[in-house]
Amino acid sequence: MTLKVYNTLTRKKEEFIPLEPGKVKMYVCGPTVYNYIHIGNGRPVIFFDVVRRYLESQQYEVNYITNFTDVDDKMIRKAEELAVSVPELAETFIQAFLEDISKLGVHDASMNPRVTENIQEIIDFIAALVEKDFAYEARGDVYYRTNKFADYGKLSNQNLEELQYGIRIEVDDRKENPQDFVLWKAAKPGEISWDSPWGHGRPGWHIECSAMVRKYLGETIDIHGGGFDLTFPHHECEIAQTEAVTGKPMANYWMHNAFLNIDNEKMSKSLGNGILIRDLVQQIKPEVFRFFMLSAHYRNPLNFSDESLKQASNALERIQNAYDNLKYRLATASDSSEVDPAITDRLAAIAKQFTDKMNDDFNTPDAITAVFDLVAEANLYLQQERVHAGVLQLFIDQLQAFDQTLGILSQQADELLDEEIEQLIVDRTEARKSKNWARADEIRDLLTEKGIFLEDTPQGIRWRRK
Ligand code: AMP
Ligand code: ZN
Repeated sequence: MTLKVYNTLTRKKEEFIPLEPGKVKMYVCGPTVYNYIHIGNGRPVIFFDVVRRYLESQQYEVNYITNFTDVDDKMIRKAEELAVSVPELAETFIQAFLEDISKLGVHDASMNPRVTENIQEIIDFIAALVEKDFAYEARGDVYYRTNKFADYGKLSNQNLEELQYGIRIEVDDRKENPQDFVLWKAAKPGEISWDSPWGHGRPGWHIECSAMVRKYLGETIDIHGGGFDLTFPHHECEIAQTEAVTGKPMANYWMHNAFLNIDNEKMSKSLGNGILIRDLVQQIKPEVFRFFMLSAHYRNPLNFSDESLKQASNALERIQNAYDNLKYRLATASDSSEVDPAITDRLAAIAKQFTDKMNDDFNTPDAITAVFDLVAEANLYLQQERVHAGVLQLFIDQLQAFDQTLGILSQQADELLDEEIEQLIVDRTEARKSKNWARADEIRDLLTEKGIFLEDTPQGIRWRRK
């Protein structure tokens, strides 16, 4: 089965065909860095990390870009509140964001471009829109002329008339039409600003992504992602900006995750029910939160509660226990050159089940069912008195392969006990005596991996920890 992706633009699951074979250009809208991120923000961060990891596991080379909005109204207000400069505020919360997501096992993006590093590209983009008559200047501001872009509304499936109803009429006589949106904002006195053909000002929100996508990935990309609230207006505006300039589709697949709720309520400032990731990971293992996030399909809402976290914790513990037990038994397992083909077949079937589910629009909850099937098989095997290293290794390899995508196994290097090391050294000596070089090497590799070094001395083998 080939990979199918639900495309917000067409409202269908479509076969994934990258622009260039074996490569994926992917952009996910990142945070405005004026605060610590909350658990809701964790959903797109974790989900799109899994998308990226899965594509990599399928041998795609993924260029994964996610930006930082390091200047906007919220940034300016917060900097004032804290009496720091906007760049200082940004630096603090960019570092905090990177720390938080790294605790969640999120791999580094290929690049994290910032608005303030791309002002010239943004100005050039706006100038191109003005040049093509898709944008107009009005007293130092520049606006996008939405009724000039025939496709405006195609992503969120609305037309301009419908959009007019939804719009709060602002007392702003600078706009030709209420649904026009700002590309460049004239600076108020004292505000951070850059010089431009329209005077001192700063970019509107939407334009940064159009400029950065084009600069870092090109005119058309494969996947553009974010939370579903970004569909309109943010992504709709990105499309209008980019496609007006390039005349080409901005992205072939638009992906949006549903929201995370808390105790069945929307997370919101007014309810005061927001939880920061950095507070949460003091209380629960980050892997549990990650597992919980993946326990629902990304297009379904997910409810955060003590109960659902407890369930996630119990379920993950079953996987981790099986993994630890496999590794523990491997240390003393006997060798066997033959692996029962029934086991290899069963493992292949489980691996296929996992891939099929991930290929079905990244169905992580069903893919996790495949992981549990593997755990069940492993536990059954571990009940045997004599286990074979080769079989254990197959189970371990398969779990690790799943985990390359999911990232839910504990990252803490589990230390070997002294007795286990000594037993392994005895096993290795015996393996060498019986000229079983493969087994001897395997044991040495395992020990090296655990930071244990062996030294042959006239008195026998000595070992030390790194
Ligand atoms: P914001 O902090 O609102 O700028 O959001 C940053 C990212 O987090 C965007 O992709 C949002 O769609 C996403 N997001 C914000 N709140 C939630 C939530 N409760 N559940 C899932 N995603 C969210
Ligand atoms: Zn964006």
